[in-house]
Amino acid sequence: MKNLNPLDAPFNHYFNRIVDGKNNTVKGKQNAAKKTLESLKNIIAQHYTLYTDKFKSDTLFTLPTSTYGGQQKEHLLQAYTGGGEALDGLKAFIKAAQPTRLQGTCQYCGISIPKTMDHYVPKEDFPEFAVMALNLVPCCGECNGHKLAYWKDSNTRGIINFYRDPIPNVRFLFVTLVWSGNFAIPTFFIENSGNIDGTLFSIIEKHFSRLHLLSRYKDQSNDFITDTIDSVVSNADNPDPQTISNNLHGHVSKIESRLGVNSWKAVLLQALASEARFITLLSTKIARKVDVNKDGDEDD
Ligand SMILES: [Zn+2]
Repeated sequence: MKNLNPLDAPFNHYFNRIVDGKNNTVKGKQNAAKKTLESLKNIIAQHYTLYTDKFKSDTLFTLPTSTYGGQQKEHLLQAYTGGGEALDGLKAFIKAAQPTRLQGTCQYCGISIPKTMDHYVPKEDFPEFAVMALNLVPCCGECNGHKLAYWKDSNTRGIINFYRDPIPNVRFLFVTLVWSGNFAIPTFFIENSGNIDGTLFSIIEKHFSRLHLLSRYKDQSNDFITDTIDSVVSNADNPDPQTISNNLHGHVSKIESRLGVNSWKAVLLQALASEARFITLLSTKIARKVDVNKDGDEDD
């Protein structure tokens, strides 16, 4: 998990561009949505300023309840659901603003490709922010499906805001391994053992719970461990346990620098690399591979 980069203000330019890009007529009739949205340009600019101020002062949960209902709300939502080149352009800007190494990974979970946009403040409750750049966060479909309209409980936010919350650089995600034969069965948990600010850690806890992250990590683990074993064995020729362990820890550091110290992959790989049992398993497999290759050479 790492911070994402928010776009720079002014944000109402994107709204205006999306409105201007809409067709003037639909099926020969005046496009009512475009007319409504045009009439709202000034007030939307004010809404966006308020959002930006509250975003900066971490008081988003005090956003006043939206007053848009009926057709006005429908038209505001159409700014997003109606698509169009200008909206695609905004989404592309948001994606391109992110560090290259994070563009392929949903930061909400660290598992999947971020193919959707989350409306941090839900567009159903706040249609005026349906195309507000600060409110659009790249995320994967599964996270988006778990989050839905949730983002806060009364006066505290419950989803990490990757544009503004300082993502801790100390570990809060941990795993324990229980062995069944050669299979490691992981149990992930989070714990504030690194003095993370209490309010922030409470958001992290709610974020993990709402998005079912601990069980999703467990579900991913079997494939990850199998792939790790296959990749280590096929790339290594030295069965020396210390060398294997060092290489794995080196790989952990690489994942941490790319995806953060709380990447579930880094956490799991570090736990595996610290298990003598796992290192012995790899060492045996590598030694067997080297032996087989030697036999093959002798036959030639
Ligand atoms: Zn995700």
